Amino acid sequence: MIKRIYSSAANMFPRVCVVGSGPAGFYAAMHLSKHLTNINIDIFEKLPVPFGLVRFGVAPDHPEVKNVINQFTKVANKPNVNFYGNITLGKDISLLQLRQHYDAVLLTYGAEEDKTLGIDNEDANNIVAARNFVGWYNGHPRDTDLKVDLSVSTAAILGQGNVALDVARILMTPVDVLRKTDITEHALTALAESKVNELYLVGRRGPLQVAFTIKELREQIKLPNCVTVWRIEDFAGVEDAVATLNRPRKRLTELMLKSVNETSKCREAKDKYFKPIFFRSPSKFLKNNSNNVSGIELICNKVVGDNLEHQKCVATDVKEVIECGLVFRSIGYKSVKVDKDIVFDSNAFVANDKGRVIENNAPQDLARLYVSGWLGTGPVGVILHTMSNAFLVAKAICEDFKDFKNPPKGGFEEVKKILSNHQIVDWEGWEKIDKYEIAQGKKVGKPREKVCNIRKMLEIAS
Ligand code: FAD
Ligand code: NAP
Repeated sequence: MIKRIYSSAANMFPRVCVVGSGPAGFYAAMHLSKHLTNINIDIFEKLPVPFGLVRFGVAPDHPEVKNVINQFTKVANKPNVNFYGNITLGKDISLLQLRQHYDAVLLTYGAEEDKTLGIDNEDANNIVAARNFVGWYNGHPRDTDLKVDLSVSTAAILGQGNVALDVARILMTPVDVLRKTDITEHALTALAESKVNELYLVGRRGPLQVAFTIKELREQIKLPNCVTVWRIEDFAGVEDAVATLNRPRKRLTELMLKSVNETSKCREAKDKYFKPIFFRSPSKFLKNNSNNVSGIELICNKVVGDNLEHQKCVATDVKEVIECGLVFRSIGYKSVKVDKDIVFDSNAFVANDKGRVIENNAPQDLARLYVSGWLGTGPVGVILHTMSNAFLVAKAICEDFKDFKNPPKGGFEEVKKILSNHQIVDWEGWEKIDKYEIAQGKKVGKPREKVCNIRKMLEIAS
């Protein structure tokens, strides 16, 4: 399909290249294509398939969140927007090359690693990064072969954010509910045989500082056959603080208090036990002779500071051990420096001013550099936040290019020469993969059965 209408080399319109096809990339392309009439936008994506964490992060039992894909598809179908998958910045093409052949380069490649704790025995078997577990149940090619042993009865999740609750819910949801989602077949098979029936959710601070939100907590505490067991002593003083909290935090805290009250009276035996615990920082992992994790040593904390939501934790002398055969580390994501010319600031993301990358000696003959999404804001925020940031950055690009009169650059025509022996997956190629996945899913009553292997994706797309 040839759809580019602005491809004449004589035209003076900015050629913008977006690296990454998650929400930041697509929302920026949406804003740019709407507000700059003469513009050409090429979206480069490392994987053969688009949508970033919307496809590989959002939980399979939250299909409504994935509806943003319909908006992104409309953007990709615009005549002056192109998708080029299976191109990795820093491997197949360098930032310098992109800056030579485009007028603006917008980096939106997200946060692809996870933070680590840096404590003893963190490399023991069955200590799994939540990021990889999420990728495993969502079909990320990187995580298809993840080693996770669900034959143990007790597991723990470290961290109390929404990713931690996604992992908890997937582990504790009846597998017949998950069967109707687009969760991968390999995850379904393993979860159907899971023996995990006791799950800790460990936070270093208290109930007033949890990072998860009310909708996700409500879903978790309402799971059938699973009882939430709180430690009442963790809630000392919480009721008195409720009136001082901002509205979302107040409602969340009230829900926790209600659940503490209800579940402390529950005497009914359940299949599964979900156990949030607070004021505990992992100090060491314990392991057995086979190098499998067998427990976590926790340091008990107290919190200090006047601003309740921002209180800091301080270690005490008290330690505690929880025995468990599986641990998920869910303490946040981090961005990676994929190219030598990308400069990170001390906060581990690319320093910028409204998306304009701060460069000491920006070369005049190269494309201007911008950043948006988690790479520019840090790895927090839901899709709505990422969208606002992408619109803000796209607005800055529109301002910078409103009187554009530079001589034309080669854009994708030049990139194609650099990648002459490389298979590129365009939007049509993705549509073939999409159709294939939906057809495979139909056979087993799922919305789609994801292809989890890059070789197979390329085969279908070609
Ligand atoms: P990403 O979505 O990560 O997109 C980055 C893209 O860049 C990816 O496609 C990646 O493959 C590509 N890329 C990476 N490296 C390269 C490279 N070198 N070259 C080319 N391309 C590259 N928000 C909600 O609103 N609701 C939810 O239910 C929800 N669930 C979430 C679940 C999880 C597990 C996580 C981690 C986040 C969730 N979020 C949710 C938050 C939401 O996903 C983010 O706000 C959003 O995806 C960030 O967008 P982004 O474009 O910055 O990054
Ligand atoms: P997050 O919200 O930042 O939560 C990270 C958790 O890890 C916090 O509880 C944090 O505690 C803890 N933590 C960090 N460092 C730690 C350490 N060294 N030791 C112990 N605990 C540590 O990150 P996330 O869960 O990865 O989520 C990322 C973003 O995606 C969030 O904005 C989230 O809302 C969003 N998301 C949304 C959904 C959804 O809408 N359903 C689903 C998934 C993700 P402290 O607070 O003490 O630092």
